[in-house]
Amino acid sequence: MVTPATDNFTNHPLLHTAFSWENERKNLNGLPDGHGLNIAYEAVDRHANGALGHHVALQWIRKDYSVVEFTYLDLKHLSSKFANALTALGISKGDIVCTLLGRIPELYTVALGALKKTAVYCPLFSVFGPEPVVQRLIRGKAKIVVTTLGQYEAKIKPSLGRLPDLRHVLIIDTPENIDDQILSYPQLMQKMSIAFTIPPTSPDDAALLHFTSGTTGMPKGAIHVHGAVLMHYVTGKYVLDFQPTDVFWCTADPGWVTGTSYGLIAPLVSGITNVVDEDEFDALRWYRILEQQKVSVWYTSPTAIRRLMRMAIKPTEQYHLRSLKLIASVGEPLHAEAVQWGQKTFGVPVLDNWWQTETGGIMIANSVSMEVKPGSMGKPLPGIDVAIADVSENDFQLTTQPGVSGNLVIRKGWPSMFRAYLHDEARYKKCFRGDWYITGDLCKRDADGYFWFVGRADDIIKTSGHMVGPFEVESALMHHSCVAEAAVIGKPDPLIGEIVKAFVVLKPGIAASEQVRLDIVAHARKKLGPAVAPKEISFVDSLPKTKSGKILRRLLKARELGLPEGDLSTLEK
Ligand code: AMP
Repeated sequence: MVTPATDNFTNHPLLHTAFSWENERKNLNGLPDGHGLNIAYEAVDRHANGALGHHVALQWIRKDYSVVEFTYLDLKHLSSKFANALTALGISKGDIVCTLLGRIPELYTVALGALKKTAVYCPLFSVFGPEPVVQRLIRGKAKIVVTTLGQYEAKIKPSLGRLPDLRHVLIIDTPENIDDQILSYPQLMQKMSIAFTIPPTSPDDAALLHFTSGTTGMPKGAIHVHGAVLMHYVTGKYVLDFQPTDVFWCTADPGWVTGTSYGLIAPLVSGITNVVDEDEFDALRWYRILEQQKVSVWYTSPTAIRRLMRMAIKPTEQYHLRSLKLIASVGEPLHAEAVQWGQKTFGVPVLDNWWQTETGGIMIANSVSMEVKPGSMGKPLPGIDVAIADVSENDFQLTTQPGVSGNLVIRKGWPSMFRAYLHDEARYKKCFRGDWYITGDLCKRDADGYFWFVGRADDIIKTSGHMVGPFEVESALMHHSCVAEAAVIGKPDPLIGEIVKAFVVLKPGIAASEQVRLDIVAHARKKLGPAVAPKEISFVDSLPKTKSGKILRRLLKARELGLPEGDLSTLEK
């Protein structure tokens, strides 16, 4: 049994009204001489210059489990060298610097160095194939990419002709420059000084570019600013309950927003130790890392939790996990069963929280200080004004009544709000109505102020005049003892608008049969009522997902209806 977290929540602002962004801002330093606010300074240099210089900032776990540690001073020096390298290469404020790297130390050096230089850092997911990589480099007009020789040769070299803005590719595993454009990263870094003065940085200066997961439509480039660091600090403190001695592990890849906001910035800005694992998901490996690194706060995803739930492992009996005090999850709906599994297995519930690329940081969360309602995303954080709205082309009405499903909207002005979609002002403007940002997610708020996820606005099903959220149906199906995973779509029907259709992955050892199908339908009808339960069920071997683990319902729908499959750049193959 692990010891649940308590401290930051004892005085949790959710329980009081004392919260203000101005007060929280006092916990950041700001650049010396009033020169503004820079993410890398808050995350690294201020700690390196102070009492935490020799504190471990990064624990990097190699595939063979050996650990390489970097102190805050190490990170300060490395990132300053990279900032100097960017200067030497003629990179200016606002230029886009990308990484196409796995979870290795160079990625963190480059990200922090680019932020120091006031360039815009854009991580590209290393598992992307050539076309999505090149598309993003073109869209971003990227000036620099840092990558490996293998990645360069496979994904970038064949398309150099399509990348006129790309000044240099920096190769981390080549000792010599290849030509004037393709340079050796180690050779360049070797020549650079560890002294760098961060230029004046406004909180409104662009810092990060994240291409969203593209669950709907083409990927969009969301731009975030240096002022977002306040959100990272606040959510680290109140949601993840960071304490000075914490060891934090965020399992998300920095190719996605969670991996930068929480796998890089939030823990460092809080001055704690951040674990980075080079390798991919493996249940035994993950438990071993939790044990070996004495992880105290673990931030992961529902997909990972579901995979762990399926294994016949008794983590607290087989591993020493006494350091673990808090488990949080984000990215897709966390079914009630997973929350309860945390409680049963570790003695702490898995705390679901909600946010998206555009919000830049956690907006709605469960915390240990409040009663967790399994299946709910929790309550809005202090300083975040969230509402449910009825949104149509010409209308926008806030809904005050509890239990009504509508679009989740957030009042403009939180520190990590995205400030643009790259080269697409019209699309950005479309996300706002007056003071409100429209998230595109459908949710309900209950009478106690908890928010419940219903589905993406574009996934919603209308059947016999009833709004049916796929998540609700999927959750019910998941409760059936034969079901491993389920995805639900609306299939057009001439009589009732749409019928609810489910795609079901059965648990290992269960054979698909008419009897199993009827049994699941009966279960769903009982749980949901006949108006909401699926009318059709297809058994499938797996569900199409984005590389970040979200079910691509639109792809299931397109395939079902024989329609064009659209952008598949984020599809997990
Ligand atoms: P992304 O921008 O790729 O991070 O995806 C954000 C989207 O993931 C949100 O708009 C939601 O649709 C979904 N999402 C994130 N967190 C949750 C959650 N806790 N519950 C349900 N859906 C979530």
